[in-house]
Amino acid sequence: NLSTPMDIKGNDELAELSQAFNEMITELKKLDTAKKQVIADAAHELRTPVTLIQGTIEGMLDGILSFDQENLKSVLEEVLRLSLLIETLRELELIDAGELKLSKEPIDIRSLLSKSLALFVPVANEKEITISFKPCLGNPATTYGDFFRLREVVDNLISNAIKYTPTGGHIQIQEEKPAKNLVRFSIDDSGPGIDISERERVFERFYRIDKSRSSASGGRGLGLAISSEIVKAHGGKITIGSSDLGGARFCVDLPVRNT
Ligand code: ADP
Repeated sequence: NLSTPMDIKGNDELAELSQAFNEMITELKKLDTAKKQVIADAAHELRTPVTLIQGTIEGMLDGILSFDQENLKSVLEEVLRLSLLIETLRELELIDAGELKLSKEPIDIRSLLSKSLALFVPVANEKEITISFKPCLGNPATTYGDFFRLREVVDNLISNAIKYTPTGGHIQIQEEKPAKNLVRFSIDDSGPGIDISERERVFERFYRIDKSRSSASGGRGLGLAISSEIVKAHGGKITIGSSDLGGARFCVDLPVRNT
């Protein structure tokens, strides 16, 4: 009896296996390249504030810059930017390791949105941008989640809408109940919008469509990456569309609270 412990595969099956194997290798290589790129980007982002801090301190020690409040303040500002960036990278690391802790409680979407809105209205006013809020009919939509993490998502999306909408524009925030098992909030703006070809890429770490414009306004390309991970960790998703206001429309779908 010449039978082997393993079934001998037919040629077709072998070809299929080898194709699957090759696809896996390609996928792994892609992941590896993406990871290396993230590390290179992180190093680049860290280098900028460090260079500024070093330059200012050296300038003050050499007597080229005066040792005054203003120069010390700009050093402090860069240190704060640096620690914020480190905090963000740490958060992404926790997410990757599956260690992002969510402390869940029932969340009223309407009050989540209003709290964030109150914070951003003065910022929008500075750019003469009007923000309107449209609650859904009846009781507020509720989900079960981590209030502070979801606040981070709302803050990121509203802050982006303000950042990328030109002076005098409009933003609309809406609370919706699109289905029995779903709650939704959306943020529409009258800015430049996001081209269909970019709608997946903007969720990648450090990805920015217009690098110069975005970094001039303090953008690092991490806000949407973190936001989408937080929403995913809640069993939801963020989608991007075109807004009737002329710009981008961000929709956040979350499971409805089941009680
Ligand atoms: P950033 O800190 O650069 O804003 P994000 O991850 O929040 O990073 O966003 C990634 C990129 O997506 C931005 O650099 C910008 O090009 C684009 N983007 C995000 N929100 C909007 C918006 N509301 N309108 C147009 N472009 C946007």
